[in-house]
Amino acid sequence: MNILEEFDTITAISTPLGVGGVGVIRISGEKAFQIIEKIFSNPKFEPRKFNHGWIIDNGVKIDEVIVLPFFAPNSYTGENVIEIQCHGGINVVKNILELVLKNGARLAEKGEFTKRAFLNKRMDLSQAESVADIIHSKTSDFANVSMKNLSGVLKEKINEIRNDIFEVLSKITAGIDFPDDVKEPEYEYLENCFQEIIEKINKVLAGAKTSNIFRQGASVAIIGKPNVGKSSLFNALLNLDRAIVTDIAGTTRDIIRETLDLGIPVTLIDTAGIREDEEISKVEKIGIEYSKQSLDEADLILFVYDASKGLDNDDKEVLNLIKDKNYILIANKSDLAKEENIEALNISALSGEGVNDLKQLLKQKVCDIEPETLEFVTNSRQQVCLVKAKESLEQAYLAAKLNELQDLISIDVKSAILALDELTGELITDDILDNIFSNFCIGK
Ligand code: GDP
Repeated sequence: MNILEEFDTITAISTPLGVGGVGVIRISGEKAFQIIEKIFSNPKFEPRKFNHGWIIDNGVKIDEVIVLPFFAPNSYTGENVIEIQCHGGINVVKNILELVLKNGARLAEKGEFTKRAFLNKRMDLSQAESVADIIHSKTSDFANVSMKNLSGVLKEKINEIRNDIFEVLSKITAGIDFPDDVKEPEYEYLENCFQEIIEKINKVLAGAKTSNIFRQGASVAIIGKPNVGKSSLFNALLNLDRAIVTDIAGTTRDIIRETLDLGIPVTLIDTAGIREDEEISKVEKIGIEYSKQSLDEADLILFVYDASKGLDNDDKEVLNLIKDKNYILIANKSDLAKEENIEALNISALSGEGVNDLKQLLKQKVCDIEPETLEFVTNSRQQVCLVKAKESLEQAYLAAKLNELQDLISIDVKSAILALDELTGELITDDILDNIFSNFCIGK
C-alpha cells in the first residue's frame, strides 16, 4: 500500500504567531503542489530550487514570498511539501493560511507533520519524540542532547540491543524447529547472553534520572529559620531582587519560585522560615505549612543558618526534619563570622562570597553527570519500555538458570523484543501515537 494515498493534505503556520521578519506556512500531502499552483505567481518548480513570486487571491496580491518545494519522498514528512516564506506580520501569515485552506488543505493537528514523518518511516519514534524535546527544551544543554537523539543515537543503541536479543532468539528457535540438525544452545551460554544484554539495558537506563532532570528540571528549596538570609540567598543566586529582604523576621510568607538556568533548569523555591511559635500570625503559619510541603517536593534542599550565631537548637530541629534528604548545609553571613563546621559551606549572600561555589555544588548534587557526556536522553515512555524488556530478560535468565524448556524461555525473549519495538514505534497503537504527538505544537 502506498502510504501517501492514505492522507489528506494538511497545512499550518510553522513559525510562532507574532510580529517578526519572516513567517512560514507549511503544506504537506498529495495536493500540496496543486494548491500552490492556484495561489502563486511563479509555480514552475524544480527539486532543490526555491521560487520567488507573489501569493495572489482572485487577482489581488497578498504578499511577496519565497516558496520552497520538496518532492516526495525527499521531505520532512516524506510527502510532497511546500513551504511558503512570507513577511512575518500576524495578518499576512493568517491570510495566506486561509487561502491555502480555501484551496483544499485541512488545518494540521498538533505534531501532525512529525507524525507523518514517523508513519512514512522518515524517522523512528525516538527521533520523532526528540523533535518535541528540542522545541520545548528549557536549556541549551537539553536541546543539544535532544539533537543527538534526533540524529539517531538512541535509535542505534536500541537497535543494537534488539539485534543481540534477536540473535539469541534465532538460536533458540533453530534448536526447537530443527532438533535433528541444530543443537539447542547451552544454558550457560544463554545465561551469559541474557546477563550481557541486561547490562546494556541498565546502561541506557542509568541516564534516566539525568534525562528526567534535564526534561522536568530540579526543584531546590531554601529552608531555614527566619532572618538567616534565605531571601537574600535566593536573590543572590538569581541575580535579582525578587524576594523581599528585611531584617524583620517572617517577611517571606508565601512561597516564591523562579527558574535558574544551570544547564539544568532549576526551580528555586524561597520558603517562609520554619519555626514553631505561638506568637506568629495566621498568614505566616500558612507560609510555614507551605515550606514544610516544599521540603517533600524538593529534589535538593539548601539549609541555611546564620554563621555569626552558629547552629542553635531550632536549626538542629529543622535539620532533623531533612536528615534523610538530599541537602546542602549553608553557613550564611560569613562576612560577619566564619563557621568552623567543615560540613557547612561558608557563604555571604550579601557580598556574594561563595555563591558561585554553591552553584557548582548545587549542580553536582542534582545531576551527577556532565551534560556533554550524556550520549542520549530517554523519556518516561521509553524508560517504561526498557524496564519491560529488562524484566522479560530477567525472567528468561532465571528460566535458563533452572534449565527450563527452551520453548518457554523463548516466550520471555520475544516479549523483550516486543517491548523494544514499542519503544522505537515498530509496534505501537493509535492511542499511544495520539498521546505522543498531542504534546507537540501546531505546525510541527
Ligand atoms: P530570611 O528571613 O531568611 O529570608 O532573611 P533575609 O534574606 O530577609 O535577611 C535577613 C537580614 O539578614 C537582612 O537584613 C539581610 O540584609 C541580612 N543578611 C542576609 N544575608 C546576609 C549576609 O550574608 N551577611 C550579612 N551581614 N547580612 C545578611
